[in-house]
Amino acid sequence: MKMTEHTLEQIRNQIRRILASGSFYAGRLSHVDPDALQSQEDFEQLPFSEKEDLREAYPLGLSAVPEEEIVRIHSSSGTTGTPVIIPYTRQDVEDWAELFRRCYEIAGITREDRIHITPGYGLWTAGIGFQAGAEKLGAMAVPLGPGNTEKQLQFLQDVKSTVLCATSSYALLLAEEIERRGLRDKIFLRKGVIGSERWGEKMRARIANELGVELYDIYGLTEVYGPGIAINCEHNTGMHYFDDYLYFEIIDPKTGEVLPEGQLGELVITTLRKEGAPLIRYRTHDLTRIVPADQPCPCGRSYPRIDVILGRTDDMVKVKGVNIFPGQIDDILKGLPDASSEYQVFIDHENSHDRITVFVETALKDQAARQFEKALKDAFKARVNIGIVPKAVALGELPRSEKKTTRVFDYRY
Ligand code: ZN
Repeated sequence: MKMTEHTLEQIRNQIRRILASGSFYAGRLSHVDPDALQSQEDFEQLPFSEKEDLREAYPLGLSAVPEEEIVRIHSSSGTTGTPVIIPYTRQDVEDWAELFRRCYEIAGITREDRIHITPGYGLWTAGIGFQAGAEKLGAMAVPLGPGNTEKQLQFLQDVKSTVLCATSSYALLLAEEIERRGLRDKIFLRKGVIGSERWGEKMRARIANELGVELYDIYGLTEVYGPGIAINCEHNTGMHYFDDYLYFEIIDPKTGEVLPEGQLGELVITTLRKEGAPLIRYRTHDLTRIVPADQPCPCGRSYPRIDVILGRTDDMVKVKGVNIFPGQIDDILKGLPDASSEYQVFIDHENSHDRITVFVETALKDQAARQFEKALKDAFKARVNIGIVPKAVALGELPRSEKKTTRVFDYRY
């Protein structure tokens, strides 16, 4: 998709704002002359930014506005060292709520809906984003937050929530609980808005069937507002994103080269209106593609689309000389009727050779489980030409979490 002159002007303004602030990020762009930025090609010469760069600005070095304009901060998870703090101005908070309102609207959610919110509140951007969008839409926010399954189930029944917002993993946990307790006829959900991560067709089908809902993938990351920057519509042709607020590119994660529409690679985002912490060419490490503009969505919306997230560039593992990413494993499991949606892959060394152990949940037991393991092993051999150690485990044995699910564990280093 060709960058428009309007987008280019928005980017020049973002760079001017960063440079004028003298913020940490200004140092990174000090060699850039915004007025010399005259074309998409010029733009594509600008340096990428990485989460690691943002960490160096800890605590408040990213702020591109005077302190009195900051009304809130959020922070992305600090599981690996120093967290990243993103400052928001009043306008940023309003813009984010507007983006989220659009997402709900695209998902067919209206002010008649009651929106049950299970993502966490606090420094994390999730819960409050779902809530602000719901309020902006005029729907009723039911802000449960995570955990306390008993209360979740009670509120789903008593408040008669119609929309469930959750991670795929937590939605599955609730779906299984509702099924187990036979509550299906006592809940009123019609839609699920699921924080987008890579999740398989099987998991999607189970959540949709057991809850009796239509599912929508919502995308986002704390560094760029939070969740609510892209969502699929009822035609399920990828996630619409808002090109009046954000500029998306897809690059080859290894070389950094910008890829043409339709090709799979890493999503890179440039903010167009952000005040508190504008970002230029921010590498998300999420794998997706831009849906070509000559394949318009039947819904008629002009917002462009990215595909659902197919994995993380960090999840792409090279085993026995073969590149594998979790989307392929989902595909293999789809071909095995007895495999549940839940699996984990462990990679380690055995006698200096890579060993891949694949755990998959199944209802089968004993001899049938052994046959299933053989079928799993054969399927990997046939599809990706690698040998694995198959392990069938009982349903519910692998961990469910309220945050994003890790499925591939590489212990070779
Ligand atoms: Zn659409």
